[in-house]
Amino acid sequence: MKCALKQPFVMGKQSKSRNNMASISLSEIGLVESPYRQKFGIPRQPGLAPAAKGRIKLLGEVNSPDAFKSIEQYSHLWLIFVFHETMAQGWKPLVRPPRLGGNVKAGVFATRSTFRPNPLGLSVVKNEGIEIIKRQVYLNISELDLLDGTPIVDIKPYLPFADALPHASSDFAPTPPSTQVEVHFAELAKQQLSIIEVRYPKLQVLIEQVLLQDPRPAYKRNKADDKVYAVSLYEFNIRWQVNHHIITVLDIT
Ligand code: SAM
Repeated sequence: MKCALKQPFVMGKQSKSRNNMASISLSEIGLVESPYRQKFGIPRQPGLAPAAKGRIKLLGEVNSPDAFKSIEQYSHLWLIFVFHETMAQGWKPLVRPPRLGGNVKAGVFATRSTFRPNPLGLSVVKNEGIEIIKRQVYLNISELDLLDGTPIVDIKPYLPFADALPHASSDFAPTPPSTQVEVHFAELAKQQLSIIEVRYPKLQVLIEQVLLQDPRPAYKRNKADDKVYAVSLYEFNIRWQVNHHIITVLDIT
Protein backbone atom coordinates (compact mmCIF):
# COMPACT_ATOMS: atom_id res chain seq x y z
CA MET A 1 0.00 0.00 0.00
CA LYS A 2 1.29 3.44 -0.84
CA CYS A 3 0.83 5.85 2.04
CA ALA A 4 0.17 9.53 1.66
CA LEU A 5 1.62 12.13 4.01
CA LYS A 6 -0.73 13.63 6.60
CA GLN A 7 -0.60 17.00 8.32
CA PRO A 8 2.78 18.10 6.96
CA PHE A 9 5.21 20.15 9.05
CA VAL A 10 7.41 22.43 7.00
CA MET A 11 10.66 22.34 8.92
CA GLY A 12 12.75 25.41 9.61
CA LYS A 13 9.99 27.83 8.61
CA GLN A 14 10.64 30.03 11.64
CA SER A 15 14.32 30.65 10.99
CA LYS A 16 15.15 34.08 9.56
CA SER A 17 18.47 32.86 8.20
CA ARG A 18 17.33 29.98 6.01
CA ASN A 19 16.51 31.81 2.78
CA ASN A 20 18.77 29.54 0.77
CA MET A 21 17.77 26.28 2.48
CA ALA A 22 15.33 23.89 0.85
CA SER A 23 12.24 23.13 2.90
CA ILE A 24 11.24 19.59 3.75
CA SER A 25 7.74 18.51 4.56
CA LEU A 26 7.27 15.88 7.30
CA SER A 27 4.00 14.38 8.46
CA GLU A 28 2.96 13.52 11.99
CA ILE A 29 2.48 9.78 12.34
CA GLY A 30 1.24 9.84 15.93
CA LEU A 31 0.41 11.99 18.91
CA VAL A 32 1.83 11.47 22.40
CA GLU A 33 -0.46 11.01 25.39
CA SER A 34 1.70 11.91 28.37
CA PRO A 35 1.27 12.63 32.08
CA TYR A 36 3.21 15.89 31.44
CA ARG A 37 0.55 18.50 30.74
CA GLN A 38 2.87 21.53 30.76
CA LYS A 39 6.56 22.02 30.03
CA PHE A 40 7.57 23.05 33.54
CA GLY A 41 8.69 19.98 35.45
CA ILE A 42 9.32 17.68 32.49
CA PRO A 43 12.72 16.02 32.99
CA ARG A 44 15.35 17.31 30.58
CA GLN A 45 16.03 13.87 29.12
CA PRO A 46 14.16 10.56 28.97
CA GLY A 47 14.87 7.93 31.64
CA LEU A 48 15.12 10.44 34.50
CA ALA A 49 11.56 9.71 35.68
CA PRO A 50 11.03 5.99 34.98
CA ALA A 51 7.49 6.10 36.45
CA ALA A 52 6.36 8.33 33.56
CA LYS A 53 4.15 6.19 31.36
CA GLY A 54 2.44 7.29 28.18
CA ARG A 55 1.39 6.11 24.78
CA ILE A 56 1.46 7.15 21.15
CA LYS A 57 -1.84 7.22 19.29
CA LEU A 58 -1.02 6.28 15.69
CA LEU A 59 -2.63 8.30 12.94
CA GLY A 60 -3.88 7.72 9.39
CA GLU A 61 -2.15 4.93 7.44
CA VAL A 62 0.27 4.40 10.34
CA ASN A 63 -2.70 3.26 12.48
CA SER A 64 -1.86 -0.24 11.27
CA PRO A 65 -0.64 -3.21 13.35
CA ASP A 66 1.46 -4.27 10.32
CA ALA A 67 3.64 -1.19 10.71
CA PHE A 68 4.65 -2.47 14.19
CA LYS A 69 5.10 -6.18 13.44
CA SER A 70 8.14 -7.51 15.43
CA ILE A 71 8.50 -4.31 17.48
CA GLU A 72 8.27 -6.45 20.65
CA GLN A 73 11.82 -7.58 19.86
CA TYR A 74 13.16 -4.23 21.04
CA SER A 75 13.20 -3.06 24.65
CA HIS A 76 13.73 0.57 23.68
CA LEU A 77 12.78 2.83 20.79
CA TRP A 78 13.98 6.13 19.38
CA LEU A 79 11.28 8.73 18.91
CA ILE A 80 11.76 11.66 16.57
CA PHE A 81 9.28 14.37 17.40
CA VAL A 82 8.39 18.01 16.89
CA PHE A 83 8.92 20.55 19.68
CA HIS A 84 5.47 21.85 18.80
CA GLU A 85 5.01 23.95 21.91
CA THR A 86 8.09 26.11 21.30
CA MET A 87 8.58 25.93 17.51
CA ALA A 88 6.95 29.32 16.92
CA GLN A 89 9.70 30.98 18.97
CA GLY A 90 12.35 30.20 16.35
CA TRP A 91 16.02 29.69 17.15
CA LYS A 92 19.36 31.44 17.69
CA PRO A 93 22.88 30.12 17.00
CA LEU A 94 23.84 30.53 20.67
CA VAL A 95 21.76 29.17 23.58
CA ARG A 96 22.19 29.02 27.35
CA PRO A 97 21.85 25.37 28.40
CA PRO A 98 20.27 24.91 31.86
CA ARG A 99 22.98 22.30 32.49
CA LEU A 100 25.58 25.11 32.48
CA GLY A 101 23.57 27.08 35.03
CA GLY A 102 21.75 29.14 32.41
CA ASN A 103 24.48 31.82 32.11
CA VAL A 104 27.04 30.24 29.75
CA LYS A 105 26.41 30.22 26.00
CA ALA A 106 26.93 27.25 23.69
CA GLY A 107 26.18 26.70 20.01
CA VAL A 108 22.73 25.28 19.42
CA PHE A 109 24.21 22.14 17.85
CA ALA A 110 26.32 21.54 20.97
CA THR A 111 23.14 21.32 23.05
CA ARG A 112 19.82 19.48 23.21
CA SER A 113 17.95 22.82 23.21
CA THR A 114 14.34 22.79 22.06
CA PHE A 115 14.96 25.97 20.01
CA ARG A 116 16.50 24.60 16.82
CA PRO A 117 16.46 25.53 13.11
CA ASN A 118 14.33 22.43 12.56
CA PRO A 119 12.41 21.91 15.80
CA LEU A 120 13.01 18.15 16.02
CA GLY A 121 13.64 16.25 19.27
CA LEU A 122 15.12 12.81 19.76
CA SER A 123 14.34 10.63 22.78
CA VAL A 124 14.97 7.01 23.62
CA VAL A 125 12.02 5.50 25.50
CA LYS A 126 11.10 2.10 26.89
CA ASN A 127 8.90 0.00 24.61
CA GLU A 128 5.85 -1.13 26.61
CA GLY A 129 4.16 -2.80 23.63
CA ILE A 130 1.40 -2.31 21.13
CA GLU A 131 -2.24 -2.22 22.19
CA ILE A 132 -5.27 -2.11 19.91
CA ILE A 133 -8.46 -0.60 21.29
CA LYS A 134 -11.47 -0.51 18.95
CA ARG A 135 -9.22 -0.57 15.85
CA GLN A 136 -7.05 2.22 17.21
CA VAL A 137 -3.38 1.24 17.51
CA TYR A 138 -1.43 2.62 20.47
CA LEU A 139 2.25 2.18 21.21
CA ASN A 140 2.74 2.15 25.00
CA ILE A 141 5.96 3.76 26.19
CA SER A 142 7.58 4.76 29.47
CA GLU A 143 10.47 6.90 30.75
CA LEU A 144 9.46 9.65 28.32
CA ASP A 145 10.36 13.36 28.46
CA LEU A 146 7.57 14.53 26.14
CA LEU A 147 4.71 16.94 26.57
CA ASP A 148 1.14 15.71 26.11
CA GLY A 149 0.13 16.24 22.45
CA THR A 150 3.69 16.07 21.04
CA PRO A 151 3.61 15.10 17.34
CA ILE A 152 5.76 12.08 16.48
CA VAL A 153 7.35 12.03 13.03
CA ASP A 154 9.31 8.75 13.22
CA ILE A 155 9.92 5.70 15.44
CA LYS A 156 13.00 3.48 15.16
CA PRO A 157 14.30 0.56 17.21
CA TYR A 158 17.16 1.30 19.62
CA LEU A 159 20.10 -0.91 18.62
CA PRO A 160 22.50 -1.32 21.57
CA PHE A 161 25.40 -2.51 19.39
CA ALA A 162 25.30 0.69 17.36
CA ASP A 163 23.60 3.22 19.64
CA ALA A 164 25.18 2.54 23.07
CA LEU A 165 28.73 3.89 23.08
CA PRO A 166 30.15 3.39 26.58
CA HIS A 167 33.40 5.22 25.74
CA ALA A 168 31.77 8.30 24.21
CA SER A 169 32.44 11.52 26.11
CA SER A 170 30.29 14.53 26.85
CA ASP A 171 32.19 17.09 28.86
CA PHE A 172 29.46 19.34 30.19
CA ALA A 173 26.86 16.66 30.79
CA PRO A 174 28.89 13.54 31.66
CA THR A 175 26.32 12.06 34.08
CA PRO A 176 22.62 12.60 34.81
CA PRO A 177 22.00 15.96 36.51
CA SER A 178 22.32 15.61 40.27
CA THR A 179 20.41 17.63 42.84
CA GLN A 180 20.69 17.80 46.60
CA VAL A 181 16.94 17.83 47.27
CA GLU A 182 14.69 15.48 49.23
CA VAL A 183 10.96 15.26 48.57
CA HIS A 184 8.47 15.19 51.45
CA PHE A 185 4.66 15.17 51.42
CA ALA A 186 2.58 17.38 53.73
CA GLU A 187 -0.31 15.67 55.62
CA LEU A 188 -2.91 17.13 53.24
CA ALA A 189 -1.00 15.85 50.19
CA LYS A 190 -0.70 12.37 51.77
CA GLN A 191 -4.46 12.24 52.37
CA GLN A 192 -5.19 13.36 48.81
CA LEU A 193 -2.75 10.77 47.43
CA SER A 194 -4.40 7.94 49.35
CA ILE A 195 -7.65 8.67 47.47
CA ILE A 196 -6.04 9.31 44.08
CA GLU A 197 -3.82 6.21 44.29
CA VAL A 198 -6.76 3.92 43.55
CA ARG A 199 -6.71 5.24 39.98
CA TYR A 200 -3.06 6.31 39.75
CA PRO A 201 -1.01 3.86 41.86
CA LYS A 202 2.31 5.28 40.62
CA LEU A 203 1.49 8.97 41.07
CA GLN A 204 3.48 9.42 44.28
CA VAL A 205 6.58 7.84 42.72
CA LEU A 206 6.20 10.00 39.61
CA ILE A 207 5.87 13.18 41.71
CA GLU A 208 9.01 12.20 43.64
CA GLN A 209 10.99 11.45 40.48
CA VAL A 210 9.92 14.72 38.84
CA LEU A 211 10.62 16.90 41.87
CA LEU A 212 13.98 15.21 42.59
CA GLN A 213 15.10 16.87 39.34
CA ASP A 214 14.42 20.24 41.06
CA PRO A 215 12.65 21.83 38.07
CA ARG A 216 13.28 25.40 39.27
CA PRO A 217 15.51 27.65 37.15
CA ALA A 218 19.18 27.02 38.02
CA TYR A 219 19.70 30.51 39.53
CA LYS A 220 17.08 29.76 42.23
CA ARG A 221 18.85 26.68 43.50
CA ASN A 222 21.17 28.05 46.14
CA LYS A 223 19.03 30.96 47.32
CA ALA A 224 16.21 31.35 49.84
CA ASP A 225 13.00 30.75 47.92
CA ASP A 226 9.53 31.08 49.44
CA LYS A 227 7.66 30.81 46.14
CA VAL A 228 4.93 28.17 45.79
CA TYR A 229 5.51 26.25 42.55
CA ALA A 230 3.13 23.97 40.67
CA VAL A 231 3.62 21.10 38.26
CA SER A 232 0.90 19.50 36.22
CA LEU A 233 0.79 15.68 36.02
CA TYR A 234 -2.19 13.93 34.43
CA GLU A 235 -5.16 16.07 35.47
CA PHE A 236 -3.58 17.06 38.79
CA ASN A 237 -2.12 20.35 39.87
CA ILE A 238 0.66 19.62 42.36
CA ARG A 239 1.80 22.56 44.50
CA TRP A 240 5.17 22.47 46.23
CA GLN A 241 7.62 24.66 48.07
CA VAL A 242 11.34 24.48 48.82
CA ASN A 243 13.00 25.07 52.15
CA HIS A 244 16.78 24.66 52.02
CA HIS A 245 17.12 21.20 50.45
CA ILE A 246 13.65 19.90 51.29
CA ILE A 247 10.89 20.05 48.70
CA THR A 248 7.48 19.72 50.36
CA VAL A 249 4.47 18.76 48.30
CA LEU A 250 1.69 20.93 49.74
CA ASP A 251 -1.40 19.64 47.97
CA ILE A 252 -2.64 17.75 44.93
CA THR A 253 -5.88 19.01 43.37
N1 SAM B 1 15.33 14.20 24.55
C1 SAM B 1 14.98 15.26 23.64
C2 SAM B 1 16.17 15.68 22.80
O1 SAM B 1 17.30 15.56 23.27
O2 SAM B 1 15.95 16.15 21.67
C3 SAM B 1 14.40 16.46 24.34
C4 SAM B 1 15.40 17.23 25.17
S1 SAM B 1 14.72 18.76 25.66
C5 SAM B 1 16.07 19.46 26.52
C6 SAM B 1 13.63 18.23 26.94
C7 SAM B 1 12.64 19.28 27.24
O3 SAM B 1 11.82 19.48 26.10
C8 SAM B 1 11.66 18.87 28.33
O4 SAM B 1 12.20 19.19 29.59
C9 SAM B 1 10.43 19.71 27.99
O5 SAM B 1 10.45 20.93 28.70
C10 SAM B 1 10.60 20.04 26.50
N2 SAM B 1 9.55 19.46 25.67
C11 SAM B 1 9.07 18.20 25.69
N3 SAM B 1 8.12 18.05 24.74
C12 SAM B 1 8.03 19.25 24.10
C13 SAM B 1 7.24 19.74 23.02
N4 SAM B 1 6.36 18.96 22.40
N5 SAM B 1 7.40 21.03 22.64
C14 SAM B 1 8.30 21.84 23.26
N6 SAM B 1 9.08 21.43 24.29
C15 SAM B 1 8.94 20.16 24.70
